[in-house]
Amino acid sequence: MNGPDADFIIIGSGPAGVSAAFPLIAAGRRVLMLDAGNDVGSRDESRSVRVLGGDLESLRADDGSSPKLQTPVSRGIRERFQGESGIGGVGFMPIGSLARGGLSNIWGAQISYLDADDIANWPIDIASLQKSYERISERIGISRNADFNRSAEGESVLPLGATAAYVLHRHRVAKPANGSFRLFPAVNAILSDSRPGRAACDLGGDCLYGCPNGAIYNSRQDLLSLRKSPHFRLLDNMRAVSLTHNAGWTVRTADGSSFFAPRIILAAGVLGTAALLADHLPIEEQGLRLLNSPTLAIPLLSPQRLLRSSTPTHSLAQLGLSLRYGDGISDYVTGAIYEVGSLPAQNFINRMPLGRSAGRAAFERIAGSLLVATIYYPGDQSRSYIHRDAAAEKSLTIHGGFAEGFDILAEALKRALRREWKRLGLIQLPGASLAEPGVDAHFAGTLPMGASGPFGTSADGELNFHPGLHIVDGSIIPDLSSKYITMTIMANADRIAHRLAETEAKPAS
Ligand SMILES: Cc1cc2nc3c(=O)[nH]c(=O)nc-3n(C[C@H](O)[C@H](O)[C@H](O)COP(=O)(O)OP(=O)(O)OC[C@H]3O[C@@H](n4cnc5c(N)ncnc54)[C@H](O)[C@@H]3O)c2cc1C
Ligand code: SF4
Repeated sequence: MNGPDADFIIIGSGPAGVSAAFPLIAAGRRVLMLDAGNDVGSRDESRSVRVLGGDLESLRADDGSSPKLQTPVSRGIRERFQGESGIGGVGFMPIGSLARGGLSNIWGAQISYLDADDIANWPIDIASLQKSYERISERIGISRNADFNRSAEGESVLPLGATAAYVLHRHRVAKPANGSFRLFPAVNAILSDSRPGRAACDLGGDCLYGCPNGAIYNSRQDLLSLRKSPHFRLLDNMRAVSLTHNAGWTVRTADGSSFFAPRIILAAGVLGTAALLADHLPIEEQGLRLLNSPTLAIPLLSPQRLLRSSTPTHSLAQLGLSLRYGDGISDYVTGAIYEVGSLPAQNFINRMPLGRSAGRAAFERIAGSLLVATIYYPGDQSRSYIHRDAAAEKSLTIHGGFAEGFDILAEALKRALRREWKRLGLIQLPGASLAEPGVDAHFAGTLPMGASGPFGTSADGELNFHPGLHIVDGSIIPDLSSKYITMTIMANADRIAHRLAETEAKPAS
């Protein structure tokens, strides 16, 4: 038998996969990364292709999902995943990716950090995560929105849009109705200063269609530096279809190739990883519990900003917010406020109770005063399960749902938020809607770190009963707070890879 293809095979080139690769190659380990995607769809495309799509995808009917999920690149990623992953949904939109860079091609780039309370039930301490947060922040580039160009501490900032700045000002001068309500400038993975290969944000506002400057972090960008290492190899178009244990692990791919390594690192995204492991897990009738964040979208109007134009800014989150609804550690929602003036008009015109031209005229007059708040609940408010689909071998179906009593909780929260909107001089418009589970794309908890039994993993993400099989994506995050999850997925992958790099046998020569 030939020797291993690498010390570690990483499956997936999304934020989790690249974050695991860096510490390993820095320690001299040989890493082979297999990814189902390839380099097609890089940011060299013209603006018309990014906005309309190579096959005019954006002219297809509005499917009711968020504007971010309807751009040509998002539709392409969702459709490939839905067609090839073998995962379906009932009351659940299974969002995943088989693309180089994973969902970071289309993410909103908003950043949150967990604190000691958020990880109280995890088998790790906050200090170990903190070090990784610092390394990842430094690598991907983070900026905060502000109503001035450079903060007193010299940190990276981007200008807030005028309507968001107005709302933040109101918040600072009027006491919240609920003492736990927080409103703050959003923190996003957007560059405010250029770096090699990535230009600073030019405030052109085209963010939804894929940043042409590379200012928004996308894990594809990291592959350029990883590939400079002699210890790193990336193979495109390699969709893993099975894993077999034989004194190490053999990965078979859809094209019939196979690769062997003592240790495998799964970074295929929570749904992709579940599909790959389905044959190794005793998923019985009750299904595999999946945590996701129930999500509410609320349209808002700032009458004081009516008929005023938007000011140049990016179209990702302008403001972040949080509000407690109970005494439990995780009983708080997190959210973001976006300026509608910088989002695609069509998505809003289609939902107005007016004809197209009347809708467009109305939208143009009020766009500068419109905002949308997106509110995320913690994963304990979801009731989603991954089931084997008995009718089709190897297929999974995710059944989405909400915790008992969630509707009452959501109504109470909307009332509490209404009081805050009023204080901020905002009118809540009709049309607040709860998204179909899955649309949030905040997934976790299928194979939690620290749990016992066949679905649990160690603090190093190693699947119980399957030595050498490590998982570094959201699957192993034990509980899902309402905060944005990707920074934590990346930091946890970095933390685990540092541990694997330290504890493994001698580095490759
Ligand atoms: C519209 C949208 C907005 C979002 N906004 C935010 C936000 O503002 N903030 C935030 O924190 N998070 C956000 N997210 C979530 C974020 O994108 C994900 O948490 C993050 O991308 C997860 O990273 P990952 O590497 O674990 O998985 P993914 O990004 O899904 O990457 C998976 C990788 O695995 C590969 N893969 C999958 N299956 C296989 C296979 N069988 N064989 C080989 N390769 C495979 C894929 O090609 C891909 O490279 C958003 C997501 C969406 C869809
Ligand atoms: S406004 Fe958006 S698309 Fe334009 S450079 Fe900035 S982040 Fe990129």
